[in-house]
Amino acid sequence: MDLYEYQAKDLFAAHGVPVLPGSVADNPADARAIAEQLGQTVVVKAQVKTGGRGKAGGVKLAENPDETQTKANAILGLDIKGHVVRRVLVTPASDIAEEYYFSFLLDRANRTFLAMASVEGGMDIEEVAATKPEALAKVPVDAIKGVDEAKAKEIVEAANFPAEVRDQVAEVIVKLWETFVAEDATLVEVNPLVRDPQDKIIALDGKVTLDDNAAFRHPEHADLVDIQAEDPLEAKAKAKGLNYVKLDGQVGIIGNGAGLVMSTLDVVAYAGERHNGVKPANFLDIGGGASAEVMANGLDIILNDPDVRSVFVNVFGGITACDAVANGIVKALEILGDEATKPLVVRLDGNNVEEGRRILADANHPLVTVVDTMDNAADKAAELAAAGV
Ligand code: GDP
Ligand code: MN
Repeated sequence: MDLYEYQAKDLFAAHGVPVLPGSVADNPADARAIAEQLGQTVVVKAQVKTGGRGKAGGVKLAENPDETQTKANAILGLDIKGHVVRRVLVTPASDIAEEYYFSFLLDRANRTFLAMASVEGGMDIEEVAATKPEALAKVPVDAIKGVDEAKAKEIVEAANFPAEVRDQVAEVIVKLWETFVAEDATLVEVNPLVRDPQDKIIALDGKVTLDDNAAFRHPEHADLVDIQAEDPLEAKAKAKGLNYVKLDGQVGIIGNGAGLVMSTLDVVAYAGERHNGVKPANFLDIGGGASAEVMANGLDIILNDPDVRSVFVNVFGGITACDAVANGIVKALEILGDEATKPLVVRLDGNNVEEGRRILADANHPLVTVVDTMDNAADKAAELAAAGV
């Protein structure tokens, strides 16, 4: 999960990383009130989960409450790279002597963590990396050893931070590592990390990505989820414990096992090329021991997707045998009753497949077509989706 800047900076503050105070407003009048409270020149900052807000007009200085209201009014509703601004952060403006870049991230390719630092911050770090790679220090961080004062000093030296602020930057780096570890992040980025005219170091921007696989040990992170911005079907699936990702096609997909579902997406995409270019509408893995209830929950989510024209249920019977899955499909259709309106193509194989197919044949549900092979089933599902488009 990516966090908004204000959420990232709240986490920074909790771990002792220096940030400026501030509050979030979803309308110009509230933004004005925050500026009144702060009683100084402020910065009004679009809260969207994308970078380059500054260049897009989403970060503006305001000298007084009136101006804050006007600027907030201009920023709210802006579309920044497809993200519509619904909230602004109002925070004290800081004088900037220098802008630096710092981040910790998971370096998957090298199976390690990585610290990246540059005294040329502020702008796109991708640009620095491309045009002046020597200005961006990359220091691997051992997951077990982590970042202590000595390691932080190594990073600070590698990036050639000015002598006057080295100790302070090193201290901030240790705290950012503490944030990274304690919050189970895969990215902690500060751009710019600024040096003010009094040589104080402040994190002026913050980007944090939390590792969703560690969400179970952070119940407090649940508050950080932006329910309004979530896809409603994905939110519903999450609430039911389903592994669902919405895609932009027309063929609903249900399978058991992530690998099988991934291959199902591929065969449906190929089949779609012969049928009007239809595509998979989602990824949904109902897992190994799929009960009738899980099947019903899965079908419920997919049938409620207005883009879906047909559904492909692709199951390989293993621990849960095909007869149990077939019973699950029949019961799910019973539970859903009139809500089930779209054609279902079912392909069963594996453990107890004959019995499974017999159960579906006996049920003889008008919406269900049983097809023997994965390729033929994908073709049938794509054909039905194309006919329904
Ligand atoms: P981003 O463009 O989405 O990365 O947003 P940032 O928060 O990094 O802001 C973009 C730029 O606006 C920064 O690099 C600064 O140059 C400038 N900026 C942001 N906050 C302040 C501030 O408090 N004072 C001043 N003078 N400039 C700021
Ligand atoms: Mn930034």
